[in-house]
Amino acid sequence: MPTALPETAAALPSVPREGLDGLMTRLDRINHYEEKEWLKRDFGMARPLLYVRSRADYALLSALTELDPAEIWGRTLHRYTYRLLAPNEAATQEGEDDDMPFPFLDDRWLTLYTMGQNQQCHRKICPDHWRADHTLILPWALRYVTACPTHKALLVDRCVCGETLRFDPRIGTCDTCGVDVGTLEAPSIADDPDSLALVSLVWAALGHGDADDGPGVPDLAGGDLLALPDGHPLEGVTTAAFFRFATVLVNLLGARDRRNPFFAPTTEVADARPIRAFHQANNASVHAALLCVWRLIAGWPATWETLLLHVAAVEQRRTDPDYFPYALLELLPGPDFAWLWRAVGLVTYAHLGRAPGVFRWLKFYHHVRRTLAPTLPRFRTLDQVGRVLGVSRAMLDRHVAAGELAVRRGRWGATARPVTLVDEESMERLTRLRAAQMNFTEAAAYLGVGRVALVELVKDGILPCSRRDATVKTPWLFEKGAVDDTLAEMIGHLPVRAQSKRMAMPGLTLTDTLASLRAAGVGIPAVLRLAHSGEVAAHRLQDSIQLSGLRFDAASVEAFLARHAPKEGATRYTSTEVCRLLRCTQVTLRLWAEAGLLAPLNTPDPATHRAGASDAPAAGTAYYDATDIDLFKERYMGAEEAAEILGCHPTTLHAWVHAGKLDAALVRGGGKGDVFLFDRERLIALAAERVTGAEAARLLGVDVKTIGNWVARGFIVPIGDPTAKGRRYLRDDVLRLANRVRRHAC
Ligand SMILES: [Zn+2]
Ligand SMILES: [Zn+2]
Repeated sequence: MPTALPETAAALPSVPREGLDGLMTRLDRINHYEEKEWLKRDFGMARPLLYVRSRADYALLSALTELDPAEIWGRTLHRYTYRLLAPNEAATQEGEDDDMPFPFLDDRWLTLYTMGQNQQCHRKICPDHWRADHTLILPWALRYVTACPTHKALLVDRCVCGETLRFDPRIGTCDTCGVDVGTLEAPSIADDPDSLALVSLVWAALGHGDADDGPGVPDLAGGDLLALPDGHPLEGVTTAAFFRFATVLVNLLGARDRRNPFFAPTTEVADARPIRAFHQANNASVHAALLCVWRLIAGWPATWETLLLHVAAVEQRRTDPDYFPYALLELLPGPDFAWLWRAVGLVTYAHLGRAPGVFRWLKFYHHVRRTLAPTLPRFRTLDQVGRVLGVSRAMLDRHVAAGELAVRRGRWGATARPVTLVDEESMERLTRLRAAQMNFTEAAAYLGVGRVALVELVKDGILPCSRRDATVKTPWLFEKGAVDDTLAEMIGHLPVRAQSKRMAMPGLTLTDTLASLRAAGVGIPAVLRLAHSGEVAAHRLQDSIQLSGLRFDAASVEAFLARHAPKEGATRYTSTEVCRLLRCTQVTLRLWAEAGLLAPLNTPDPATHRAGASDAPAAGTAYYDATDIDLFKERYMGAEEAAEILGCHPTTLHAWVHAGKLDAALVRGGGKGDVFLFDRERLIALAAERVTGAEAARLLGVDVKTIGNWVARGFIVPIGDPTAKGRRYLRDDVLRLANRVRRHAC
């Protein structure tokens, strides 16, 4: 914190005014208010000296005073306002007159930093200075100069009569009430260290902080830095930047959040009130507002959090899209204010997930992080993460619960909806993980096979999958790399034969081959093994290793089937042959064997084992007694055949079994994968006992709908499935009813 006032500022010369004729003397006396009227009147100059800016103006004054034009420039307000401009603004001012060594300023800049718009010019004086020798110091005209460093008092811009202070320096009394301006009272700031620090700041900003900054040609290099403790995030901010920031912040809050407690009237400055705009405010209000901004910077970070959280709360009530941080960003652009964005970004970071209107602040935070503070962590809302990952909310919650997504949760007040923010890095990690993994549906699509085939591949151990045990409810996850490796191992060595457009290469797709071989009990794992071993000739269409590009030689498939056709008069069959005879799969066959319905022989034939099918169980080829197979075929049948006998759909059959209306010899599994075996005799007996609605209608010689009506009226009672489609009727009942109908008809 700056403590001592700059010596140059305190030692500003105060010389007596000697009358209007001594121009040379007046100009020699630095830092006097320039008189508009005498310049106009006596020298025909269009503008008062403090506005002088053309080469002709300087040439005339130079001739009159024999002063160097640069020295004259140093005696105008140009010198001070130039320092308050942002570097990019200052750059645009140069080069207006190439042979002049100093920049010229637009009137716009002068009015901005001095009297304000609409020529709302009023004087500010230090009554003590005035009493001493009628001194008026030029920088007092600047808006930021609010106090006299010599007398440690606020400048006075208001007369005791209540009017804005206007007076003729030649007379020295209030234009309105005639009070001697030397008798006005200036509020002391001697006991307020913040006010003294502010005075010190403004003089430093105006170039009086440097010892070598003598009168005349000014130092154009820029202001001193704010005196802040080491490690303060706002270190390196120039005093001039501080005043530019103060202007924008005060104007912005004045326009958008006038009741911000941060800018409430302060008790120590009696005449201060919350200000709407700098150029309309009185001196005491400007002083109070500048004090607030100074305390804001000096009181980091607590003061910033207070301010920004209040702004955030106000922003949430507003629907204005042009909200506070972006308005600041637009008003204070460029590297000169990098410190500001970093500061706002840090405060926002501390309150992410807690501040209201978090999504817009998050957007602002992203902007700051990207441009200024790349080391700050990145955040996304849960919805954004859901969109990026392409997963549902429930799945997101699961990822969060599993710790795969790092989140930050917060709630603003008791009633507000809690906000969840996701650390973007954890999201990216999860994205990479998910990209390398496939779920069940994705894997089926990737391989180009059906769901049943995929399950077969996993159960067979060909395809590595997270769900090794079918009884445990874990998600099906496939590592893409492992799937690719498996494919490469199974079919990668197969020759590539591009398909010619003219001559269609004879070849069966995997689906067609499966359809042909399934009857022989060969599922997809076995088909792949056959292709791998070369027992069934296959090739690939493209160099890429995909199941969709796999083609099987039709003749080779036929030959395989012929090889495994059950031999006439054989006394035993291989499991493949049994599958062909019984029209079942190897899996089903194993189930029957486990259930003891069809026992394999325990002695594998070594002679045939050599040429045994590669799709046989790993334990070795199982053989079945031919007589056993014949008996089994006679006694049992599968669901499809049973459904045919009963004249219903296999699904209906399943339903009946589960409902206990139909006995099955074997029920295996717990749902869709049930395997039934039905006893032929019992089924035939059942078929004889029961008739379908259609048969009943035929027996009765009526429409099927009529049967429905009769059921509703209680003429006939159906058995079995209560839905109309599944109804069955006892043949006896139907025949009895038929007799009654015939009697009525007669
Ligand atoms: Zn003074
Ligand atoms: Zn007055």
